[in-house]
Amino acid sequence: MTNTVTVDRYGVMGYPVSHSRSPVIHKLFALQTNQNMQYELLRVTPEKLEEAVRQFQRTGGKGLNITVPHKRSVCRLVDQLSERASTAGAVNTLAFQDGEIFGDNTDGIGLLRDLVVNLGANITDANILILGAGGATSGIVGPLLEMRPRSLCIANRTLKRAEDLAERFESLGKVSAYRFNVIPVTEPYHLIINATSAGLEGETPPYPEAAVSDKTYCYDLSYGLKPTPFSIWAREHGAAHSVMGWGMLVEQAAESFHIWRGVRPDTKPVLKQMTVNA
Ligand code: NAP
Repeated sequence: MTNTVTVDRYGVMGYPVSHSRSPVIHKLFALQTNQNMQYELLRVTPEKLEEAVRQFQRTGGKGLNITVPHKRSVCRLVDQLSERASTAGAVNTLAFQDGEIFGDNTDGIGLLRDLVVNLGANITDANILILGAGGATSGIVGPLLEMRPRSLCIANRTLKRAEDLAERFESLGKVSAYRFNVIPVTEPYHLIINATSAGLEGETPPYPEAAVSDKTYCYDLSYGLKPTPFSIWAREHGAAHSVMGWGMLVEQAAESFHIWRGVRPDTKPVLKQMTVNA
């Protein structure tokens, strides 16, 4: 009798997805924690999403990360949604077990771990401005509100999307919605989070300059080999700190890894390796 060694399969589905650093991060986590697993990049168009998820499940796949543009639409395929994914209306992690699909959202906890634990930023009682109202914003608003900020303002190019999110989260705290050019600035914000994908197109929308002071923490969810347009804008306008989203990327991945493998990797050396390579 021959023993076949099976490797547990994971992956990230998105469109586009070739830029994703998730395979590298999960490979480093697996090496560090001695897990026998592989992690693939899966380029899947919106029309093929359901078929691709079902096929991955049918062929024994254990878990998936879900990225742009599928985070909202994948919710309909999930049998059991975590509370935070249900509040967000968006899923970035699927786990397949006993023929069922469990869906979770680790973006918010990933951002908080980076901001609060790694960087020591203060959220409680802070005035927070989030730029952008897409899938990433829907994942981070709930966890941020749980930290009891003084206020949270969502600003977006398309006002309706910011208003919809403000309405979705109004039971959790004080949330307001604006277009970029009318963001209220009575005093500088303590924390400004860029959750637009404008930087990917090399653009810097008309963010209000008065929103930044030498006490402001500026955090860009986007990350890159070079400083992102928002992180440059923040520095040029005198922000106390200007940080790119590498830490969130590694922390949200660690949370997914923990859901799948029941082991929590040490994120510090992985984050160091990712940003040294950056
Ligand atoms: P999304 O759902 O596609 O939303 C994109 C957002 O960006 C929308 O609010 C959109 O505004 C805005 N936007 C796009 N182009 C713009 C422009 N030229 N000017 C002004 N606003 C513009 O994307 P997402 O999933 O929220 O992701 C947003 C960013 O966060 C991406 O860069 C993604 O890579 C990053 N991210 C990072 C992490 C991490 O772990 N670090 C995790 C998640 C996401 P409209 O509504 O007006 O279209």
